[in-house]
Formats: sequence, C-alpha cells, structure tokens
Amino acid sequence: MEENNKVVFDHVRITPLSESQLDFYGQPYSVSVLKVGYCLPQSDGTFRADGTVTLVTGPRTILVDTGGPWGRDFLLMALQERGLGPGDISLVVGTHGHSDHVGNLSLFPKAVIIVGYDISEGDTYRPNKLAEGHAYSLDEHISVVPCPGHTGQDVSVQVKGTSAGTVLVAGDLFECCSDEDSWRDLSVNAAVQEVSRQEALRTADVIIPGHGLPFRVLRN
Ligand SMILES: [Zn+2]
Repeated sequence: MEENNKVVFDHVRITPLSESQLDFYGQPYSVSVLKVGYCLPQSDGTFRADGTVTLVTGPRTILVDTGGPWGRDFLLMALQERGLGPGDISLVVGTHGHSDHVGNLSLFPKAVIIVGYDISEGDTYRPNKLAEGHAYSLDEHISVVPCPGHTGQDVSVQVKGTSAGTVLVAGDLFECCSDEDSWRDLSVNAAVQEVSRQEALRTADVIIPGHGLPFRVLRN
C-alpha cells in the first residue's frame, strides 16, 4: 500500500481504493458508487468515456451524476437492485453539464435537479449563491460545494460522517487517482481548478472522481 501513496502537495498523500471498495456506509448518509466512470483513448484519436454514477442514501436519496444516455438501462437496473425507482430519487446533482454526466436527467422529472450552479424543481429555478463560491447546504451532513475549473460551473457533493470520514463526490474535479497527465488538458481554467483541487484535498477523506475508482486522502 505504502508505495502506491503519492504525495500531491505538502503533507497530503492520496492512495487508490480497489473495485471492492465502492460502498461507504455512514450515519445518517451512506455513499455507493453505482458505476465507476472511465476514459479510454482509442487508436483513432477518439475517447470512449462515461462518468461515475454515485448514489447517496439516508434521510434524502440523492443521485450524483447520471452517466451518459447510452447507460439509461444500466442506471434503472442499478437503482432497481437497491429497491429504488426513479421516483424515489429526491435530488439529482449533475456535477457539470457534460453529456457523460447528465445524460439521463429526463428519468427524474419530479426530483430537484442541480446542474452546476443551477438549482431547479420542475421549471422553477431557485436563486442560490453557488456562483459566489458558497456551498448549498442540504443539512448538517451534506452539501453541494462549488469547485470550478473543469468547466466554469462545477460542483461536488460533500457527505460527512461516513465510516471512511468525509466523502467528496467530485465529478471531473479529478479524472481519477492518477490524473496528473490528463486533467489540465480537459480543464477550461486549470489555475482555478488547481485551487478547487487543493481545497478538496484539504477537506475530504475519500474522493470519488469522475472517471476512475475512489481514492483515499491522507493528511499528516
Ligand atoms: Zn466533463
């Protein structure tokens, strides 16, 4: 394990979790990765990619990112395996507006929907302060946190109190555990994203990235 640790900045190391570590039980909220996102460069210069899909259960049932529209049946089945239908999801958060993250919003017409800095319920959009850098708190355990850089309007979902500590469902703030070669190329503002990444590494114990397995953050 130790040799896998990577120092990302002073006193902070990150270490990958395995495919068997996709559930983070907690009180009152638990976090489960339903689909591990991927990004696979192809020989013809294209990429095959889909975003990570994460379910938060507890007093509220929250879906963070929906994957691309081609994954519609997978998503419905993954929810069904947990005894859930689309109508049971009270909030859907799209970490940003890319098609591989918000491709199935139409399955959830009754949910509150947050995509980037927009918060809507049906056709009603609620004023909020995400664009000014303020978190949108759902309760004392869970909040939607602005983390711009990959796009101009990215958000993460921060869940406190799991058995693994604070879990951050981070969208493409992080591509994967070892994304040093890739995230800047995909960023609209790498300097802004770097600040968002450092803030995440200061506060989260586990980060669930947009296109790879969760990883743990270790601070000295
Ligand atoms: Zn993206």
